[in-house]
Amino acid sequence: MEVTILGTGTATPALERNASGIAVRAADLLILVDMGPGTLRRMMEAGIDTRLVDAILVTHFHPDHVSDLVPFLFASNYAFGPVREEAFHLIGPEGLEQYFSGLVAVYNDWIVPRGNRLIKREMNSRKRDRLRIGRAEIHSAPSVHTGASLHYRIDADGASVTVSGDTDVSEALVELAAQSDILICECSLPDGHKVLGHLVPSEAGRIASRAGVGKLALTHFYPPCEEVDVVAQAARTFSGKIVRAEDLMVIRP
Ligand SMILES: [Zn+2]
Ligand SMILES: [Zn+2]
Repeated sequence: MEVTILGTGTATPALERNASGIAVRAADLLILVDMGPGTLRRMMEAGIDTRLVDAILVTHFHPDHVSDLVPFLFASNYAFGPVREEAFHLIGPEGLEQYFSGLVAVYNDWIVPRGNRLIKREMNSRKRDRLRIGRAEIHSAPSVHTGASLHYRIDADGASVTVSGDTDVSEALVELAAQSDILICECSLPDGHKVLGHLVPSEAGRIASRAGVGKLALTHFYPPCEEVDVVAQAARTFSGKIVRAEDLMVIRP
C-alpha cells in the first residue's frame, strides 16, 4: 500500500497546499479519496496517470473536496491518447445521485462517461457501510461535519488506511480507524482556535490514541496552522508517530 497526499489545504487558496485529495495505490487499484480543485495537476506532478483511477471516494460535497470531479469526468471522454475503457467507481455519501444529476443539469452529457463506464454508489450516511472493489475492502462511517459526510477506511494488501475527511470529534472515526496502519486526519486550526465541525491537533491526537493507529498524518490546514507546531500539539495526546502532511508526500504503512 502506498498513499500519496495530493492536497493538504482547504477552502483557502494556497500555492503550497492544494485542496483535499489523496491517492491510495493498493491491490493493483488506484483509489482517490476526494478531489478538490487542483487534484488532477497534483496527480500529474506525482507521476500518477489520471486515466488509471479505479475509484473515487467522496467524503462530502464541499467544493474543496470534490470540484475536480468535473474536469476529470469531462476528460474521461476527451483525453488524448488511450482513454480508460474499463468502468470506474464514484462513491459518496447520500446525495451523490442528486449531486451528479445537478452536474449533468449544468454540463449536460459532456461529463457523463460514455459506455456506462461510471458506476455510482451511495454509502449509508447514518451508520457503518462497506463495499468491495477487487481485492480492496472499503468501509465508511458518518463524520461530524455536514448532514451527509463520511470517513473512509481502505483495507488491502494486509494494510489499512483511514481518512477522516472533514470532521469534528467523532466516535465513529475512533471505531472505524481501530488499529489502522495510517490515519490521515484533518486538523483545520491550531489548539485554542477550535471551530465547530473541525478538529484541532490535540483532538486528532486523542482520536489516534483511542483508535490505536500506527501512524497519524495531519492534514487540511487553514493558514493559522502554519504559525504553530501542529505535530507537537498532537503529540500531547498521541505518543505514536505523527507527520505533518505536505503536498506530494508519500506515506507507507
Ligand atoms: Zn474541507
Ligand atoms: Zn467540509
